[in-house]
Amino acid sequence: MATRNAQRKLLSICLRSKAQTKYQYNSSRNFSVTRSSLQSYSSPLPDSYYNEEQLQMQATIAKIIENDINPFVDEWETKEEFPAHQVFKKLGNAGLLGIDKSEEYGGLGLDFKYLAAVMEELGTIRCAGVPMAILVQMAMTCQALHRFGSDELKKEFLVPSISGDFVACVGVSEAGAGSDVANTQTRAVRKGDDLIINGQKMWITNSLQADWMCLLANTSDGNPYKNKSLICVPMNSKGITKQKIHKIGNNSSDTGIIFFEDVRVPAKNIIGEEGSGFFYQMLQFQEERMAGAVGVLKGIDAALSETIDYTRQRKAFGKSILDNQYVYFRLCELASENESLRALTYKAIDMFVDGQEVTRLASMAKLKAGRLAREVGDTCLQFWGGMGYTREAAISRFFRDARLLSIGGGADEIMLEIIAKLMNISPPPPPKKK
Ligand SMILES: Cc1cc2nc3c(=O)[nH]c(=O)nc-3n(C[C@H](O)[C@H](O)[C@H](O)COP(=O)(O)OP(=O)(O)OC[C@H]3O[C@@H](n4cnc5c(N)ncnc54)[C@H](O)[C@@H]3O)c2cc1C
Repeated sequence: MATRNAQRKLLSICLRSKAQTKYQYNSSRNFSVTRSSLQSYSSPLPDSYYNEEQLQMQATIAKIIENDINPFVDEWETKEEFPAHQVFKKLGNAGLLGIDKSEEYGGLGLDFKYLAAVMEELGTIRCAGVPMAILVQMAMTCQALHRFGSDELKKEFLVPSISGDFVACVGVSEAGAGSDVANTQTRAVRKGDDLIINGQKMWITNSLQADWMCLLANTSDGNPYKNKSLICVPMNSKGITKQKIHKIGNNSSDTGIIFFEDVRVPAKNIIGEEGSGFFYQMLQFQEERMAGAVGVLKGIDAALSETIDYTRQRKAFGKSILDNQYVYFRLCELASENESLRALTYKAIDMFVDGQEVTRLASMAKLKAGRLAREVGDTCLQFWGGMGYTREAAISRFFRDARLLSIGGGADEIMLEIIAKLMNISPPPPPKKK
């Protein structure tokens, strides 16, 4: 339950959203969804799962999505960037960037289920790039800083990230260290009271607009699990250069390669204990994975809904495409699978909030979410025929965007390795060479 202060803040959020109706999709595109089509398919579960406060938070974010995000998504997708400072400030003003962060630093001090409720609603944004950028800010960049950072670091980097004044990014992956995080090569070497950073980070979401990066770098040699630290690095530091990566999906989110050449930051910018960076990073993976899974549920609902609507209207051989048993059976099957994913994800979230170990369930939810999003994108696009192969159809964006879920934040195969270990069916490691 919310503490008294958090309840006060929540109340003000709720008052702001009082006169709102449930979200409504808006798009200038010819072939995208209308309100009536949304009734084609909607889950019976979410409203009963979340409590009144969580539903109110969803209504607040729905209003922001309706007014300040969805009408501009097509433009941002074309530009391959969205105005992160502008959007984050709106979210920060509504109290949505620090849901699980302490009130002392401007957060709401609520548990992960509140964050999950907002993540699920973010799935109604008409692209995956913007919710991904928000997820990075809300649940990936600031977790370790919030848990282990000094008061000084929190005031400098956490407070403005929660208020939406700062855009943040998380720099873990490198060209040679994606799945294999322990192989990180970027180094931060002490010189007096400073650290001198050299190396590069790849695939970094928000990085072209970010004010700071939570950087994983080697601060010593030796054991790769104990030689890394997380460091707050201002992105305007001398010696940082950036290069944009052009992707096949999630286009509105900016993704960059960041080069560090003798970048100097104070050594006090290390979060928590020096050498604990790998461990801190691993700690937050369960939240990231559950957030990724819960975030795709409404996107899948919408893809199914729009496909039902389109195939109902579209005629071939004298009847609706939808009236072919193969088509409506497949759509029912996929809707059933999304309900299974929803139940699995909700279970993982509940257990996590309850303080239980959820690595196995969170990995399963992430794996199933990636696999199902791909299957839904592919099957629905097929039912749209040639129209599905155009950029104008919302389903083609879903097809391209959803592909990332099986790669980012731990690829499917990494989830399978984790699950195999927890099921005790991994082969033994090869014997050490003498
Ligand atoms: C759009 C986008 C945004 C991203 N944002 C960020 C970000 O903000 N910050 C950040 O730090 N990173 C980010 N990433 C990086 C992302 O986390 C990595 O791409 C991901 O971890 C996979 O690493 P990789 O690309 O190096 O693939 P690799 O590690 O090269 O793996 C390639 C493939 O090999 C297979 N594979 C790997 N290991 C195994 C194994 N043990 N067993 C079987 N198969 C295996 C998998 O199929 C995997 O997909 C982003 C990536 C993308 C594409």
